[in-house]
Amino acid sequence: MSKKGMMVVLSAPSGCGKDTVFKELTKIRDDVCESISATTRNPRDGEINGVNYYFKTDDEFKSMIKNNGLLEYAQYNGCYYGTPVSGVEDSVNQGKICFLIIEVQGAKHIMEKCPDAVSIFLMPPSIECLKDRLLKRNTDSEEMILNRIKIAEEEIKSSSSYNYIVVNNDLQKAVDDINKILSDELSKRNS
Ligand code: 5GP
Repeated sequence: MSKKGMMVVLSAPSGCGKDTVFKELTKIRDDVCESISATTRNPRDGEINGVNYYFKTDDEFKSMIKNNGLLEYAQYNGCYYGTPVSGVEDSVNQGKICFLIIEVQGAKHIMEKCPDAVSIFLMPPSIECLKDRLLKRNTDSEEMILNRIKIAEEEIKSSSSYNYIVVNNDLQKAVDDINKILSDELSKRNS
């Protein structure tokens, strides 16, 4: 029998380092991949359509919703974000661990719709530390950063509904913790 893959929902407040953690994971595992989301947010400097996101207009996004093209979607900071259906299923069927790196409302929908999905919340060491990282990243306006911090405080309240909480205090430790979770979950599924 071929090896089964799985879907992993990874959420973390903006600026908590989830993209870095994922990038490190891809260096040590060749069975992980990431679903590319659709969004109506404007591209940041250096972001490429079809690589970082599928950048959509409001109308294009709404037609994806209407045509059942999204596994989940949510509004975050005034923009739409959603997971295209195509891609995720194929990856899982090919034995891949497909990461959905999404915010908490979308994650909640996935947990309800796909009870087999593993959910991980990456927790910042503190709100102060998060504020610091967002300011240093310097990719958003101050108003947007303050709003992201307000959202982060709400998101942390949802962390208890996830299967696992991993604190991102030390990058290598967070990567090792998630790597172990993946190995344990895979062996449960394939035993
Ligand atoms: P950013 O604008 O910083 O790229 O993303 C903002 C938030 O939207 C992050 O928490 C990110 O994980 C989340 N996000 C990205 N793609 C999706 C998606 O497809 N669905 C949902 N629900 N959230 C997403």
